[in-house]
Amino acid sequence: MINPRFEKEAFKKDVEQNVKQLFRKTVDEASQQELYQAVSYVVKDAIIDDWIATQKQYEKDDPKIVYYMSMEFLLGRALGNNLINMTAYKEVKEALEEMGLNLNELEDQEPDPALGNGGLGRLAACFLDSLASLGYAAYGCGIRYRYGMFKQKIKDGYQEERPDNWLKNGNPFELRRPEYAKEVRFGGNIRVEYDDKTGDIRFKQENYESVLAVPYDYPIVGYDNHIVNTLRIWDAEPIVDFQLDSFDRGDYHKAVEQQNLAKTIVEVLYPNDNHYAGKELRLKQQYFFVSASLQAALTKYKKHHDDIHKLPEKMTIQMNDTHPTVAVAELMRLLLDEEGLGWDEAWEITSKTCAYTNHTIMSEALEKWPIDLFSRLLPRVYQIIQEIDRRFVAQIREMYPGNEEKVAKMQILRDGQVKMAHLAIVAGYSVNGVARLHTEILKKQELRDFYEMMPQKFNNKTNGITQRRFLMHGNPLLADWVTDKLGTKDWITDLSLMSGLKKWVDDEEALKEFMSIKYENKVRLAKYIKEHNGIEVDPRSIFDVQVKRLHEYKRQLLNILHVMYLYNEIKEHPEISFYPRTFIFGAKASAGYIRAKQIIKLINSVADVVNNDRSINGKLKVVFIEDYRVSNAEIIFAAADVSEQISTASKEASGTGNMKFMLNGAPTLGTMDGANVEIVEEVGAENAFIFGLSSDEVINYENNGGYNPMDIYNSDADIRRVVNQLVDGTYSQGDKEMYRDLYNSLLTAQGGSKADTYFILKDFRSYADTQKKVEEAYRDKDRWAKMALLNTASCGKFSSDRTIQEYVDDIWHLDKVTVEV
Ligand SMILES: *Cc1c(COP(=O)(O)O)cnc(C)c1O
Repeated sequence: MINPRFEKEAFKKDVEQNVKQLFRKTVDEASQQELYQAVSYVVKDAIIDDWIATQKQYEKDDPKIVYYMSMEFLLGRALGNNLINMTAYKEVKEALEEMGLNLNELEDQEPDPALGNGGLGRLAACFLDSLASLGYAAYGCGIRYRYGMFKQKIKDGYQEERPDNWLKNGNPFELRRPEYAKEVRFGGNIRVEYDDKTGDIRFKQENYESVLAVPYDYPIVGYDNHIVNTLRIWDAEPIVDFQLDSFDRGDYHKAVEQQNLAKTIVEVLYPNDNHYAGKELRLKQQYFFVSASLQAALTKYKKHHDDIHKLPEKMTIQMNDTHPTVAVAELMRLLLDEEGLGWDEAWEITSKTCAYTNHTIMSEALEKWPIDLFSRLLPRVYQIIQEIDRRFVAQIREMYPGNEEKVAKMQILRDGQVKMAHLAIVAGYSVNGVARLHTEILKKQELRDFYEMMPQKFNNKTNGITQRRFLMHGNPLLADWVTDKLGTKDWITDLSLMSGLKKWVDDEEALKEFMSIKYENKVRLAKYIKEHNGIEVDPRSIFDVQVKRLHEYKRQLLNILHVMYLYNEIKEHPEISFYPRTFIFGAKASAGYIRAKQIIKLINSVADVVNNDRSINGKLKVVFIEDYRVSNAEIIFAAADVSEQISTASKEASGTGNMKFMLNGAPTLGTMDGANVEIVEEVGAENAFIFGLSSDEVINYENNGGYNPMDIYNSDADIRRVVNQLVDGTYSQGDKEMYRDLYNSLLTAQGGSKADTYFILKDFRSYADTQKKVEEAYRDKDRWAKMALLNTASCGKFSSDRTIQEYVDDIWHLDKVTVEV
């Protein structure tokens, strides 16, 4: 079907026009970057028509709106995805070809808007895609960081961080909306005013610093339904112009301060994944975007509704982790101080409006702000939290008379800290985990006291991913094949239809096609690796892939120690047949996470030794892909044979990378952790490779002082050899100290953490044995093809469309909207 908005001749003309108007050039003269921009503005123009139509429809239907609050949105590139969702990708590709242009090359001109770290930010992006595609009114609310995630360079095997000035060429898809700007205030003191006549008390913030929050709207295009939702990310500007008269008034320093605050507040995304650093600027960022978003949401509500008490019928707020939890207190503040409501009314509204998603049980990720910092920065918000806490403590005492231990464990303000998770749970009407196992651990362990007190709030929403980006865009060959085999495109909006592929599992021809598509995608990745790493890899080898943030709990160290073990085996027994393998890694480490960076260096050192050893005939290759991000992730998932999901059981809340691999036909090699449990349930244990301790076993060890890795070191010679190679210079040109810290971390307790905190040696043998089974399975081409196909065919549950529909049914209760054009 020709999409009328992208009628070829008109489209070509529009591109030419844009090149002329934007750059005073002809198509022949323009650079690829300029052409990318010219094309993007044509696409944006078409999007804007639907954007306006959607907003009109929303005004007419007045649906309930979800505000998805998140510090991170890891969007990935927009151009290709927008064309896919407008069902115009192929037409535009052809039109460009007729102009002598290549759409893929133009797409490569677009920087990834890297406004996120990893899984949590990518989840937010998948959710926005699903909300628009399912026809629900939603705003994403976040920060327009000047510098998002850093660009990763590998130099001599070490990670280096480079600033990513993603906005340097402008951003064709965004729209600045100064008319919706809001003021956000920090610091100062609170003056209490009594109105003698009415007896009212008013709280006035004085001597504060403030910034102007200016929103940039970013269109979120639904799939083939003309719905365009909005991601609203906030920029900060000084509130008063830096003028001489403020100098004259003696406000010079204040003016400079506000200028500086505005400049620094949105300057950079904190590159920590699953880790709380407690930086004041981070709290400022949180309050900044939450306050601006809530003010804008209330303004919007009040424009069409006059009863503030009915707010929960028309809007709901989802807090993506505790990062935006200050929202509950800020909403209270707006209702009390700006709307003039009493406490009980305000609480009634707030506690029916806010909902919280928990993303981790890792203790180092729990946000606990020091009270002195918090109360200094947000004095009025802090007063409100004190009152929430006071009332909550009374409630605990009523329910558990005389049980002060409960109070100590559950209180919001305790030990000089503001415990953000406690605040979110107490004020929220829903608390959800992100995979079944994770939610069970929350209920039984981490949040047990809260679960016992308010079980009705707890629910599970297993994460998902969007098939529009991670199959249609990332793997067009497989997407077309799926459509052909299913005889319908409906899987694009209903991934459960993928189960229809199961009928091809005994069809030799179909299996051959499936595996030759995988091969094509491996050739594409091999080309990428050759271009970016200068390493030749054989697309006939097994592509064994671990791509995700670098974290000790994700156990990239286990993976690379196993590679070292295999290398020893191959050297020792060259006669034993070994199926060629390419181990592919991709991972950014937080800039301050020293041990994670050592692991990156180790991976690259092993790669150096192994890749350059002619004697092993290329049986083993190790590749570290620089700057892992959404755009290269799409290429990597499509080409993977094996999906490494090897976190210490109980530590990975869900994982979503695991789902992207499954969708693209890569069986999981993993532990029974996070959503792996549900993946195995869907695909069958015979089509996955599961190893290692269970979460119960891990938790048991942890509650009983850990285990002794020396027992394993002493009894298993292969493991001992590999561990010793960390300190014998094998991978460090004789330097015995380079990996001493990694060695120590495996064998000895140190600084508050137990020896081998993440059970790497404990799981090593089980992992190595299971890797052997992977090889055996791969040798049997027919068996492997079936397994791979069955993974794709069983991935239906893991669409973020399913996840979002569950949020809508159980938590948000949104109204479905259709836009007619
Ligand atoms: C999906 C995704 C993640 C999350 O991966 P996990 O394996 O679930 O940790 C991180 N980064 C990018 C770029 C992704 O696409």
